[in-house]
Amino acid sequence: MSISNTANELPIKRIAIVGSTGSIGRQALNVIRRHPDSYAVEVLTANTNAELLIEQALEFQPNTVVIADESKYLQVQEALAPHDIKVFAGEESLISVMEMSTIDTVLTAVVGFAGLKPTLRAIEYGKTIALANKETMVVAGEIVTRSAMQKNVPILPVDSEHSAIFQSIVGEWHNPIEKILLTASGGPFFGKDRDFLKTVTIADALHHPNWSMGKKITVDSATLMNKGLEVIEAKWLFDVRPEQIEVVVHPQSVIHSMVQFCDGSIKAQLGLPNMELPIQYALSFPKREADNARRLSFADYPTLTFAKPDTDTFTCLALAYKAIEKGGNMPCIMNAANEVAVAAFLQEKIAFLDIPDTIATMMEKSRFVAKPSLDDLLQTDTETRQLTIDYLNNK
Ligand code: NAD
Ligand code: MG
Repeated sequence: MSISNTANELPIKRIAIVGSTGSIGRQALNVIRRHPDSYAVEVLTANTNAELLIEQALEFQPNTVVIADESKYLQVQEALAPHDIKVFAGEESLISVMEMSTIDTVLTAVVGFAGLKPTLRAIEYGKTIALANKETMVVAGEIVTRSAMQKNVPILPVDSEHSAIFQSIVGEWHNPIEKILLTASGGPFFGKDRDFLKTVTIADALHHPNWSMGKKITVDSATLMNKGLEVIEAKWLFDVRPEQIEVVVHPQSVIHSMVQFCDGSIKAQLGLPNMELPIQYALSFPKREADNARRLSFADYPTLTFAKPDTDTFTCLALAYKAIEKGGNMPCIMNAANEVAVAAFLQEKIAFLDIPDTIATMMEKSRFVAKPSLDDLLQTDTETRQLTIDYLNNK
């Protein structure tokens, strides 16, 4: 028997949030807190932040929580023992809880390659995917989309640009996309040259003009790798060729992306830069849920501007196009090198411009596989990470 939403008789959706303690996870819980008649939290997972996971579990009373860091198991287990909440630890548990028959939708809010296995398991068990973890699509877009098609599982985008594209094609199912206009804020270093980038600090890179996000994606936004990852994500989500995706720098982040159709008409989705709207749309689709979030006023944005991306300075975007054109395991190589390089930058081990240089070198050096299986991709990720660590240690 399913619990009913008395207001509109739709069943309550039971949500699993993989990565509930992060930026997207916390914002998703804000959405759920505001709509208790529509959603119930079934599973929460975190990597190491036991304190916040416990706090979230006490508030939302999920069926199950998983802490990936096994050394934190006892802390979480003891805190939740008086409650009817199951506690597991470790990567394997995080993946296998995706099989729970009581989950309707899995929100993938983990950062990085770690999102791939839980997402694939959730698809295998027929769960609707609300996809925030773009790295999953970058490293294994072909396998993930094929598997979702076979299982008839919808993958609903959470990334604001992809949500905008999706919102622009709802009702246009029979009209092919001619072109995607993927907007980019340009990040904190928009308009700067390589000389400027040589000396930027971690604090400079983490100071995003429009969005407050996790550290990894914030650095990706500063290098424009985030836009590169999003080009690849868009290719797989919307089944278009890379040359059909044009990146448009739009520093105000009001137009979240656009779609051009065969008659030249362009549709866009606009709003304030606030991730709670795309998160909510992915959870509520096909319905729009009433919400009193702050509204966009054009009086606050008298000028909306657009520019071409500077791929000579921000080479990561060019590397991403190169990776997707080459195909095979190349996007997976690029992603692994980027994850290691960004982590090294955040630990003050390398300079900002070493990030694109490291990725370019790894894309030259790593073993190319034209038609990778899932195992090939897992191996590529492990090998490239090690190769990148060795390369940076010997630099
Ligand atoms: P974050 O660093 O704030 O949070 C990451 C979450 O994943 C945390 O809950 C953490 O505990 C968990 N996690 C990290 N590594 C893990 C591991 N190895 N195993 C298990 N759990 C792990 O990241 P975020 O900014 O919320 O981003 C999450 C994803 O959403 C990323 O793929 C990002 O690109 C995408 N995204 C984020 C935003 C945003 O506004 N933050 C916007 C669009 C897309
Ligand atoms: Mg985005």
